[in-house]
Amino acid sequence: SHVLVCGGTGCTSSGTPKILECLNEEINKAGLKNEVAVVQTGCHGLCALGPIVIVYPEATFYSMVKPEDVPEIVNEHLLKGRIVQRLVYDETKTEEGTVTSINETAFYKKQHRVALRNCGVINPENIDEYIATGGYEALGRVLTEYTPDQVIQMITDSGLRGRGGGGFPTGLKWKLARANEADQKYVCCNADEGDPGAFMDRSILEGDPHVVLEAMAIAGYAIGANQGYIYVRAEYPIAVKRLSIAIEQAREYGLLGKNIFGTGFDFDIELRLGAGAFVCGEETALMTSIEGNRGEPRPRPPFPAQKGLFGKPTLLNNVETYANIPQIILNGPEWFASMGTEKSKGTKVFALGGKINNTGLVEIPMGTTLREVVEEIGGGIPNGKKFKAAQTGGPSGGCIPAEHFDIPIDYDNLISIGSMMGSGGLIVMDEDNCMVDIAKFFLEFTVDESCGKCTPCRIGTKRLHEMLDKITQGQGTLEDIDKLEELCYYIKENSLCGLGQSAPNPVLSTIKYFRDEYVSHVVDKK
Ligand code: SF4
Repeated sequence: SHVLVCGGTGCTSSGTPKILECLNEEINKAGLKNEVAVVQTGCHGLCALGPIVIVYPEATFYSMVKPEDVPEIVNEHLLKGRIVQRLVYDETKTEEGTVTSINETAFYKKQHRVALRNCGVINPENIDEYIATGGYEALGRVLTEYTPDQVIQMITDSGLRGRGGGGFPTGLKWKLARANEADQKYVCCNADEGDPGAFMDRSILEGDPHVVLEAMAIAGYAIGANQGYIYVRAEYPIAVKRLSIAIEQAREYGLLGKNIFGTGFDFDIELRLGAGAFVCGEETALMTSIEGNRGEPRPRPPFPAQKGLFGKPTLLNNVETYANIPQIILNGPEWFASMGTEKSKGTKVFALGGKINNTGLVEIPMGTTLREVVEEIGGGIPNGKKFKAAQTGGPSGGCIPAEHFDIPIDYDNLISIGSMMGSGGLIVMDEDNCMVDIAKFFLEFTVDESCGKCTPCRIGTKRLHEMLDKITQGQGTLEDIDKLEELCYYIKENSLCGLGQSAPNPVLSTIKYFRDEYVSHVVDKK
């Protein structure tokens, strides 16, 4: 038998270390040490049900397991083959008293796992398990069968767009970085996920760190770089630890370092830890921080592909973008392009949070509707409340109201209704949420996180916040709502970087769809 225990941050904080300790102890006591393998995996997605324990070969899905439940799992299930029904996740129970695969449940049925394919499946601290699922095969093929231009063409043909928020075509980004001749180039990974409520990249790094290393090496070969940097938040200790182990193991196996696969291609990766500034997720600030300076954005052009890290041509993608690369190489660009919508191919990972039953991590084909995500995969809104809006794109995004509940989620659709894909945070609001409070919450965040380099953002977001505060305290006027909008447009147009340019979005989208809520707060309402 195999016993998988989720070791993602969600389950870890709800008790995985103690569960593992008890499991090993009870398995020893029962004399099953040589027959049962206990494996700590990455995130399964159903974070609200943690800690999660899955027992194979039946693939029984136990949820909310407590240390005191462990003796029963060992003595009943592992020793006698009797499933402990009271711990089985309800959705997998059948009327006949047996259990079905987790893949048949509403939470998983409409999901399609590409970037998350190994999360919750393999032990992320063991390179052999990654290799056993086809890991590093794409790198091997790329180095021995394809020219750099062919690799870039495959990425272009797949239609993959940057998963960090902007949705820039990945193949074009690689092509631009390749086109610039230089004695030294760099490949960077943006793992500085900072949106409130977002944990997609963290989960990939915790559950499948090698996929990012493999993809970066492929990118290095494609653009002509031999050094990579992963800029990861220091507040992600499990991700940092697993990445460090993965880099060490890949070096030992000759999959990073000199002469990879005996092809003469050299590529190595170093970690750089971010100290928690949201603005360091902006690409130019990120590179400035890697260089050892204060993480402030710099004007573009020059773009990173021309003059990036240490003044050299640099390719920068985020974690989820990289996580798709090996699968595109192995299955072909047509396979990837067959998923999704016309202009948004593949899948997208979302972190579901807020007023939703199944809080957690999901990966859906582009084009899935918001209704399917909230009502089916997310299990609906708790306590029978009504859906009011969903916020996507974090502090840079906007609110999607109920009237757009059936919109197929893709880059262009979300922009057309005043929101954006962002990196993948999806926070659900119900009828009790005040939308002015929501806008104020995001503004508080951007005021704190503005780096202060340019005035429109530094002063403008502060004034916006003060105006919102005045309105929520019932002291605003109708004129203040107009002034609020005017200032939003000024900040958008005049800020130096994406943080300031998008900071007013939560205010603008809530005014657009919920103006009546703003009006209900002001003193001179009719
Ligand atoms: Fe800094 Fe804001 Fe200006 Fe960006 S827009 S450079 S975060 S002050």
